[in-house]
Amino acid sequence: MKQETKCVHKGTYHDPNTGGVNTPVFTSSAFEYLDRDTVCYPRYFNTPNQKAVTEKICSLEGAQAGILFSSGMASISTAIISFVRPGEHIIMLEELYGGTYAFATDMFNRLNIKCSFVKSSLEEIKSAVIAETKIIVFETPTNPLLGILDIEQIARFAKEKGILTIVDNTFATPINQTPLKLGVDIVVHSGTKYLGGHSDLCCGVAVGSKEHIESIHKVSCYFGGSLNAMSAYLLERSLKTLALRVDRQAENALKIAKFLDTHKAISRVNYPGLPGHRNYQTARKQMDKYGGILSFELNENYIDTATFLSRLSIIRAAVSLGGVESIICSPAKTSHAVMTPKEREKAGILDNLMRLSVGIENHQDLTEEIKQALSG
Ligand SMILES: *Cc1c(COP(=O)(O)O)cnc(C)c1O
Repeated sequence: MKQETKCVHKGTYHDPNTGGVNTPVFTSSAFEYLDRDTVCYPRYFNTPNQKAVTEKICSLEGAQAGILFSSGMASISTAIISFVRPGEHIIMLEELYGGTYAFATDMFNRLNIKCSFVKSSLEEIKSAVIAETKIIVFETPTNPLLGILDIEQIARFAKEKGILTIVDNTFATPINQTPLKLGVDIVVHSGTKYLGGHSDLCCGVAVGSKEHIESIHKVSCYFGGSLNAMSAYLLERSLKTLALRVDRQAENALKIAKFLDTHKAISRVNYPGLPGHRNYQTARKQMDKYGGILSFELNENYIDTATFLSRLSIIRAAVSLGGVESIICSPAKTSHAVMTPKEREKAGILDNLMRLSVGIENHQDLTEEIKQALSG
């Protein structure tokens, strides 16, 4: 089965009583236990709606098993904590999602877990390894600079050293990239973004081998970040159009990136689908399309950030990403506001940087709007 078909069909629970073609919403939090192999309970992550949507995502990512969470951060923090003990060491990118960065800088200190933040390259990751290194956590494309790391190379290196790899695949989605097939151990998502896709859900997921997911499952039951039946059902419904949405978003994003690339009011465009992108060859190798996110720096000799944002109307200035509607934000003021200005400067996240999450609208409407907003 190809991805588009899996989006529609995998995991669906067919109700024998009604013959309905969709999974029903099973609202129970209490389930009978006599004569059953497993006890069903929302915080055990095994209710029918949780299982249906997890199975769909596992099939899309090529995973043996998975766990559905109530947010992306629940999936990321729980997955990491499941594999590390006091005194051990983790390698993370400087450019990780702001919430993951904040989690690491605050919680790891309290738990006496050591952590190195490195620039987004295999060489930097290699040189940060010490005897206690247990996990490498990375994202590709990175947020918000859209850097690309070679997943296969990092996974191979980590495997040789006996280090676990966790990849946040939120930006690419399994439609554009499947890290498990490139040797990574665990994939996590903020389902709030593309998987949910309509800016009306908060959820997350972790997928991998049966063995790894069993380890995460144990800790998940303590932390309890489970998703309710209604949201699980909505996520299942959303995923049926994932391939359609993500394909259109990537096509739109490429067109907008090309347009911005030649505009005099833009000093820099970050999009892995542009042949001039610093990691274009790696992106081509491991991605199908290049995703719906791009970022760009406004040339402030021509236009300032506030004027530019005030002239947009279809594209709204809002946080989050991955929805059917186009959304723009200034990472320095939103997703990366928790970093100090010095940390941001070190990571290359300048105040004039805009991150655009391209929706499924007509691309000409979007380009026209940006063009008039940039006009002098
Ligand atoms: C939004 C996001 C998260 C956090 O997800 P929540 O659902 O908000 O908890 C993690 N990683 C990436 C790349 C994100 O964009």
